[in-house]
Amino acid sequence: MTPSSFDGLGLAEPLQLALKSENYLKPTPIQAQAIPLLTKGCDLLGIAQTGTGKTAAFALPILHRLFLEPVERSGGAPRALVLAPTRELARQIGERFTAYGKKLPLRTTVIFGGVNQHHQVKALKAGVDILVATPGRLLDLFNQRHVRLDKVSILVLDEADRMLDMGFIRDVRRVVAACKGKRQTLLFSATMPPAIAKLANDILHEPMRIDVSPKTVAVDRIAQRVYFVSAKDKRALLDELLANPAKERVLVFTRTKRGADRVCKQLSQSGISADALHGNKAQNARVRALEAFRTGKVRVLVATDIAARGIDVPNISHVINYELPNEPESYVHRIGRTARAGAGGAAVSFCDHNERPYLKAIERLMQRQVAVAAHRLGFAEAPRDAAGAERRHQPPSKARARVRTRSPHIGEIPMLAAPARGRDRGNRYSGEHR
Ligand code: AMP
Repeated sequence: MTPSSFDGLGLAEPLQLALKSENYLKPTPIQAQAIPLLTKGCDLLGIAQTGTGKTAAFALPILHRLFLEPVERSGGAPRALVLAPTRELARQIGERFTAYGKKLPLRTTVIFGGVNQHHQVKALKAGVDILVATPGRLLDLFNQRHVRLDKVSILVLDEADRMLDMGFIRDVRRVVAACKGKRQTLLFSATMPPAIAKLANDILHEPMRIDVSPKTVAVDRIAQRVYFVSAKDKRALLDELLANPAKERVLVFTRTKRGADRVCKQLSQSGISADALHGNKAQNARVRALEAFRTGKVRVLVATDIAARGIDVPNISHVINYELPNEPESYVHRIGRTARAGAGGAAVSFCDHNERPYLKAIERLMQRQVAVAAHRLGFAEAPRDAAGAERRHQPPSKARARVRTRSPHIGEIPMLAAPARGRDRGNRYSGEHR
């Protein structure tokens, strides 16, 4: 059972005070399991995604340990290093360290690519205890001798599977090799493709394993619906759903960057305030888009999977999968954005004929069927049965004429349990377009 407060986890007093001021009353399951082990110095393999509270699960014990083992801070030589795949995630982790450690004499610095290195080098020189970094920029600064890694006594690889997806695995191994001292190592990953399992095996020493994988979190708390809709009708359906003001802060996902731009443009044409977030956007444009979304200036953020990693915006009312992801874990990551730290949420997916296999894979992963939303304009129509498969191929106009409500009212049909089948979890993430 999850402890009902942080009191029993043995964290230093200043951390407990910071948690109170953050209004964290109760540890999440991964925090409850990981914190006591990590404060003792164990290595850890954490199977967890964003939204489970994993950042605090590693940040709190790191701050605790560094606080209890004070050493003089030296320029460019951090004692703790956190590697993260994206700038957004790195920044958010850095913010968390600063918030939790605000009553401690420890300094956190964040470095990432895509911006001038000048300020980062200056901050490193001034002295750093905890460094949060994306692998590429870290190696750049390491090679320029602005950073030394021999003092790193705690190393965290966060979202290791994403670092693999994004082609950083070699860089990660280089960084690990440069952390020569005796150290505690933590590896977090939402999934365990073989390359990450091997990495974990190579760098962790007798790790504790904690699994709070998506199957058991988030999905239960999120009301999920799918509309079966042809690709060409998706735009109109999105406009119609967004006509409901209850959808006040909406994250829309597309599979490609071009798709994100297109949907964003369409929304703007329909008079809906929207911005796009993807890897082709300059760093300052991304920061601006996130900020506008966070503060409510922009109602809809259209994002690709990778760009959305680590987005930590509270109160996202709805996630809309304009296109379903071709890897099922991404679906769980996506919808997890709407149910942060215990809150419920709503996720709506648009599924065209070609995306049916993706939906199947998603349902297999979650061991559940997603409720089918019937729709009064007739966008939704594709029964799951065999007869329905034939009807799906009819032209949309005919399909519309025959709208069939699977539920007496528009909305959810209870989720049904479906048996899971084993699947090979190899690295299926590819495609630079993401
Ligand atoms: P993470 O999975 O680390 O990205 O955390 C997800 C969100 O949950 C962040 O907004 C955290 O600030 C928040 N959070 C983490 N732990 C707790 C907690 N024990 N109580 C309340 N909120 C939390």
